[in-house]
Order: sequence, then structure tokens, then C-alpha cells
Amino acid sequence: MLKIDEKLCIGCGICENQCPFGAIEVVDGIAVIGDTCTLCGACVEECEVEALELEDTGLKKQDDLESWSGVWVFCEFTHGELAPVSLELLGVGRNLADSRGVQLSAVLLGHLTENTADQLIAHGADQVFRADNPGLELFSDEIYEKILSDLILEKKPEIILAGATAIGRSFIPGVATTVDAGLTADCTRLEIRQDDGALMQTRPAFGGNIMATIVCPNTRPQMATVRPKVMKALDPDDRRSGDIVDIMPTARQLVSRIKVLESVKAPQSNVNIQESDILISGGRGLESEKGFNLLHKLAEALDGKVSASRAVVDAGWIPYPHQVGQTGKTVAPKLYIACGISGAIQHVAGMQSSETIVAINRDKDAPIFNIADFGIVGDLNEVIPKLIAKIEEKRGS
Ligand SMILES: Cc1cc2nc3c(=O)[nH]c(=O)nc-3n(C[C@H](O)[C@H](O)[C@H](O)COP(=O)(O)OP(=O)(O)OC[C@H]3O[C@@H](n4cnc5c(N)ncnc54)[C@H](O)[C@@H]3O)c2cc1C
Repeated sequence: MLKIDEKLCIGCGICENQCPFGAIEVVDGIAVIGDTCTLCGACVEECEVEALELEDTGLKKQDDLESWSGVWVFCEFTHGELAPVSLELLGVGRNLADSRGVQLSAVLLGHLTENTADQLIAHGADQVFRADNPGLELFSDEIYEKILSDLILEKKPEIILAGATAIGRSFIPGVATTVDAGLTADCTRLEIRQDDGALMQTRPAFGGNIMATIVCPNTRPQMATVRPKVMKALDPDDRRSGDIVDIMPTARQLVSRIKVLESVKAPQSNVNIQESDILISGGRGLESEKGFNLLHKLAEALDGKVSASRAVVDAGWIPYPHQVGQTGKTVAPKLYIACGISGAIQHVAGMQSSETIVAINRDKDAPIFNIADFGIVGDLNEVIPKLIAKIEEKRGS
């Protein structure tokens, strides 16, 4: 409960301005808390006269925190293939495990997984819990949820990461509910807090306008999902060794109320911008659909693909599969050339991990320049043709 000490409150209104939920109002010189208060505590930190106090929130510290240890990555295996996000999560999982001085384990559920467990070890896992069973050939929410939840409750890992893919989004929330844990979806950064070893889970919030860091200091396990291409996989090292622990799913675990008749692999879109090393991305600065002709020429000259901001996808200048950003795809190419894109936080969230970012914008104050490695201030209609001519000249020679 949020308490106001009326003797200390001077009615300055700082808390009223700070409250993200508009839950505080100063009435007759005293702050009054409304029904929309979420006990987030933002006002408590800002109150200069310490008139606000967050009393017992009802959150009790779990008394066996110390017995939860290790970082786990759920590794997705369907249609005979490992989802690449699994290797990306092992990359960040390795850092977290090293920071904590604990083991990194992969959990692999599927059928005919062959040498996938070795691949997971080569990419950083110390241990693989493998359930390879015909009953796991087709993904089933209920079955996956039971096996993973039971394993978590038995082994007690402190952190569990999973991909924010169709499968991860479908069954991981159920696992979190079963093991009584919170779950932070779509994290863009994961780090260990040195003070208490808690997992700091950062993700966009309030429509992408702020980055929020979520911490669960009082309970274990800590669970987070991450979208594909946000983290980087480690280079495989075949000399690494690790343990493979085979798990036999029980009859109870393999029962589901849902019968999966068939699982059909979605046809690959011919515009897979996530797979390209070079992306030429266009925004509203292109002024019309025709502006993309210029980008296609540049993409051709560099052997890259064309992507876009949401503004131009919404305008119907280019289809949705090309969209980069919070509500589009997350990309991490070697080279990202942003042409006529302002650099809104929701766009940047989807491309900031690119190795080299080049921005072309006629506004020298455009936010995209804050994250660009190279910035060209100018009209893209003049800059891009010159760039193409230069590339062709170099190629020709
Ligand atoms: C919940 C939510 C989710 C969102 N998700 C996404 C997302 O996934 N992806 C995304 O991109 N956006 C997303 N947005 C939208 C985002 O906030 C921006 O509105 C959008 O990214 C702007 O696109 P833009 O940069 O193309 O256009 P603008 O912001 O209009 O920028 C156009 C830029 O072009 C420059 N320019 C104009 N003419 C020229 C020229 N001739 N030469 C060079 N430069 C020129 C201008 O200076 C300007 O900087 C989301 C918004 C919300 C609220």
C-alpha cells in the first residue's frame, strides 16, 4: 500500500507529475492517491520530502532462493530443425551463467534430434536435458508445458530463457504459471545485477516510448523470452564438452486434451530480411512508393535486400514482411543503410544490433544519427545515385 504522511507532504506536485498512471492528484495542498495506483513506486523515489512510503506490498521473499541455481535455455526443435533463436539464447545465457558462476543448461524436446545436443554444447551449453521421443514429434502446448514445468520444479534453475517465437509465446506463459514465476516477454537486454545476482530484464514499455528494466528479486525462477535476432550466438567450438542427460517423458506427461493432427511448415516468405547481411531500409523520406526504385538499385549494387520503417508499410508503399522494428522484424545485418528514416525508438528497437549503421537523412538532428556509425546529411535523391555510381565504379575496376 502507498502511504502519504500528511505532516511531511508540502503539496509540491512532483509526485503528481511523475506518476505514469495519473493516479496522484494534489488536493488542498496534499497528494491524494487514486484507484489507478499500481504501487510502481516511481513517486516514492522522486518525493524530496520523503512523504511517500510504499508499505508491505504483500510480496514475500521466497525462503529457498539460494537453492535455485543455474541458467536454462529452452531450445526449440521442430520439423527436424533447431530454431536459430536457441543458439542466440545460449550466447546470452553463457554470459549470464558466467556472471553468476553457475552452469548453463539447454533443454531440448523433440524427436530424432540426432546430433543437436552436441551442437548446443558447441554453442555454449555445459549440459543438455534431452527428451527425444516420438510423442514429442509434433509440438503440443500441454505436453511441452508439463515436461518443462516438472523439470524446472525438480532441478530448480534460477533463470529460464526461451524464444519469443510462435511456440515460445504459446506454451512458456503456461510454464510460468505452473511454476509460479513472473515472465518478462520480448526482452532486448539481459544482465545480472551484481548486488544480489538478480536477472535484469529490459524491454520496451508504454508503446515502446521507454525501456523498462524488470527485476524479480524475491522469487525464483526468473523467466524471460527474447525475440529472434536480438541476441548474438557464439561461434561454435567443437572442442567444448558437456553432459547430455536423457529424460524419459512419463505417460502422464505425454497425455494431452488436444490432438495435433498435422503440423505444416509455413512456406518461407521470399523476403526474409532477417537472413540478409546487407539491408537498405527506406522510410517516409522516400516520399512515395516510387522512392523504393532507388533503394532496389542500391540493394542490387550491394547484393542486399530492401527493408522499411512502419510508416511506409502503413502507407502501403511496401508489404509488411519488409518492416523492421518493434512490431516488425528484428534484424542484425552486417550493414544497415537507413534512408529517410527518422530513428523512432520503435524502429531502432528492431535494428540497433546491426554491425554497421549508415544513415542518410536531410535533417542533421534526426535521432537516427545518434545510433549511426556513419551519417550522411543530405537529400537521399542526390546521395543514393552518387553512392550507386561509386559502388559500380569500384566494382567495375
Ligand atoms: C506501438 C508502436 C509500434 C511501432 N512499431 C514500429 C516498427 O515496428 N517499426 C517502425 O519503423 N516504426 C514503428 N512505429 C512507428 C514509429 O514510431 C515511427 O512513426 C516510424 O518509425 C517513423 O517512420 P519514418 O522514420 O519512416 O518516418 P518519419 O518519422 O516521418 O521520418 C522521415 C525522415 O525522413 C527524412 N527525410 C524526408 N525527406 C528526405 C529526403 N528527401 N532525403 C533524406 N531524408 C529525408 C526526414 O528528415 C525524417 O527524419 C511504432 C509506433 C508505435 C506507437
